Amino acid sequence: MKYISTRGQAPVLSFEEAMLTGLARDGGLYVPETIPVLSHDEIAALAGLSYEEVAFRIMRPFIGETFTDDAFREIIAKAYDGFGHAARAPLVQLDSGHFLLELFHGPTLAFKDFAMQLIGQLFQAALKRSGERVTIVGATSGDTGSAAIEAFRGLDAVDVFILYPHGRVSEVQRRQMTTPSEDNVHALAMDGHFDDCQARVKDMFNDFEFRDGVRLAGVNSINWARVLAQVVYYFTSAVSLGAPGRKVSFTVPTGNFGDIFAGYIAKQMGLPIDRLVVATNQNDILHRCLSTGEYRPDGVIPSISPSMDIQVSSNFERALFYAYGQDGAAVSQLMDELKAGGFTVSQGALQALQELFDSGNCSEAETSATIAATLKASGELLCPHSAVGVKVANDQRQADVPMITLATAHPAKFPDAVEAATGERPGLPARMSDLYERSERVTRIENDLGAIESLIRERIAN
Ligand SMILES: *Cc1c(COP(=O)(O)O)cnc(C)c1O
Repeated sequence: MKYISTRGQAPVLSFEEAMLTGLARDGGLYVPETIPVLSHDEIAALAGLSYEEVAFRIMRPFIGETFTDDAFREIIAKAYDGFGHAARAPLVQLDSGHFLLELFHGPTLAFKDFAMQLIGQLFQAALKRSGERVTIVGATSGDTGSAAIEAFRGLDAVDVFILYPHGRVSEVQRRQMTTPSEDNVHALAMDGHFDDCQARVKDMFNDFEFRDGVRLAGVNSINWARVLAQVVYYFTSAVSLGAPGRKVSFTVPTGNFGDIFAGYIAKQMGLPIDRLVVATNQNDILHRCLSTGEYRPDGVIPSISPSMDIQVSSNFERALFYAYGQDGAAVSQLMDELKAGGFTVSQGALQALQELFDSGNCSEAETSATIAATLKASGELLCPHSAVGVKVANDQRQADVPMITLATAHPAKFPDAVEAATGERPGLPARMSDLYERSERVTRIENDLGAIESLIRERIAN
């Protein structure tokens, strides 16, 4: 299996190379050259298997010769061993025809653990074999960073630097990044918004001297291996509701478009997904773009669902690549226009996107109201991101097709918003109840590429 860049100008890579690289050298994102399709019988045979076995069967065709079957099985087993639920991604019913896919039973209580725990084990296995060492940098609106630090802490072939927007992540998110004591993890609190953090990470990747000098590797949601890990739970959940004999729809709380793009891949692989619904908070650029074709960032407004406070949605580039018939030059042109303020999706590409994706948005008041109403109706306490999903799913549900809404974080990760909506303060699961007592370690840094690069060079030299 070979991987190509969405901008058409970077070298074609193997799975292992694409995973270790993250961002392509032409600024694009890696996608598989072809998407393998599972037969009706192969999908039907997934029913009743463990999460790990489904993960093996879904991901195996994408990894090529990178690992033997036994080695890959072991990697998957280690990745999901630390989850607090035997089913890994349990499905609970909210209402007739509406289900919630709980993706928050991993070590940092958000769905990012599904991809990050796997990628930690994949990196470890690949680097152990080659004897190399890499420097991982990532930007986070809160959950990616904590998941990355948790996945890589203590691994000997890796240093991890996470940039998060100072003062704009929840206390639980911050503590999950600042309390691990291993020397190879570094939490950096940067002045600015998430988009600024993400822009500095992109700058580091485009500074080839720095990139090669420190052997930079990226684990942000643009990393193909992360998208791949997220394809698995679309299969486990749909099959448990009767696929492939029956169609299902999904609603996905969306920011960087990684999680929903995994749903697109599942659909291309043959899973009978009826509708893929993009749910945004008040930062609804994706909803507006899918409605009108106009993609024009106009500033982030902080919300109670901070992991979705995004205007430059990096994985959307992958969706554009397919909507434009895999035309790398066209995607490149759009991304140049984005740097200059925004772009308009062509009529044909917009039609292709609208055939694949529906969308909706959710205001702050609607988010709170949905948390309260869902608790009352079903006893399920939602985090604000999951509530955005449930609200949009309720708007878009159709009677004859079951809807699965992805619950992307545990309510205890955002206790203030949940308490304000319901009067109930969600507690942390017992396995992490001492989080508020552990001591913190963090470096404040200005929004300046040179300062960030110097700090990274210094730290890895020691
Ligand atoms: C990251 C995140 C999202 C958005 O996921 P994308 O893949 O960036 O679209 C939604 N909810 C939570 C809790 C998250 O951490």
